[in-house]
Amino acid sequence: MATISQQPRLSVVIPIYNEEACLDTLLQRVSTVCRTHFSTSYEIILVNDGSSDASWSMIAAAADRDQHIVGVNLSRNHGHQLALSAGLQVSTGETIFILDADLQDPPELLPQMLEKMGEGYDVVYGQRISRAGESRFKLLTATLFYRTLQRMVDISIPPDTGDFRLISRRVVDHLNAMPERFRFVRGMISWIGFRQAAFPYHRDSRLAGTTHYPLRKMISFALDAVTSFSILPLRFASHLGVMLGITGLASLGWVGWSYISAGAIAGWTSLAALILIMGSIQLMLLGIFGEYLGRMYMETKQRPLFFVQEIRRSTPMAPEEEN
Ligand code: UDP
Ligand code: MG
Repeated sequence: MATISQQPRLSVVIPIYNEEACLDTLLQRVSTVCRTHFSTSYEIILVNDGSSDASWSMIAAAADRDQHIVGVNLSRNHGHQLALSAGLQVSTGETIFILDADLQDPPELLPQMLEKMGEGYDVVYGQRISRAGESRFKLLTATLFYRTLQRMVDISIPPDTGDFRLISRRVVDHLNAMPERFRFVRGMISWIGFRQAAFPYHRDSRLAGTTHYPLRKMISFALDAVTSFSILPLRFASHLGVMLGITGLASLGWVGWSYISAGAIAGWTSLAALILIMGSIQLMLLGIFGEYLGRMYMETKQRPLFFVQEIRRSTPMAPEEEN
């Protein structure tokens, strides 16, 4: 009888949040690809990120009937990046394949990505050539986000990528050893280095349900990305200070000149406007400092990143057995 070896050759990691409508198709498509290319040496890790629908009961049932499926039930909703991190911590495979549950990233691309990895890469990341079914707003904000991020960070974070990628065990081990709480996983993987290659692909639209990234979450995701990899916004304060100082001096000169040439100057309106502008700039800068300070505060608590309520698998991990 076939047994699961201690270290499967492939781990597929999928974060799940209220995806009951996608789960059956997801498991069927992913299992088919894995079976074809890895025979029995694979595991599919489904991390339930505090779903309020039937996702966990479906995952638990799937894990009970299929020894390749591992269900990880988090204690509550921890957010996409932490759910993904939990899956990566549990994974044991030699190569790790990260997927979204909504099948926007086709699992059938696995063999081509493996082939690319075989050329000697540690990371093969999917890079979207096109994105079906996304709103104009999402496309515009995503483009702006990646272009701005690229200008702000010291490392190269490739544009138009998601978490859809193949990663080697050593990169995942390094990633798991990074304790930070505000995790922008794709950036962290770029930061780790080794040889990484892009894999261009067309992104499908969501199979069912709606995105879990409303504007509010998109903004906090973007802030995590920027503050995790750049201190440029902090420097912005001093640059702005210098610029405003020079403008202030110039306007002082102008005021002095006007006084000499025309006598007293009327200017309550401009004064009020100036005070307002200065006040708002100072508050904005305080806000930027606050973003960093708040994150430092949260990091210093060193709380665990997530709590796992249950790990469900039908067979315990066993050492390689004889037939
Ligand atoms: N997800 C999660 N926790 C969350 C939000 C999302 O685990 O709090 C999962 C979700 O189930 C999906 C992936 O993260 O597998 C990406 O989410 P989504 O498809 O909603 O994002 P989008 O593709 O719209 O950016
Ligand atoms: Mg999606």
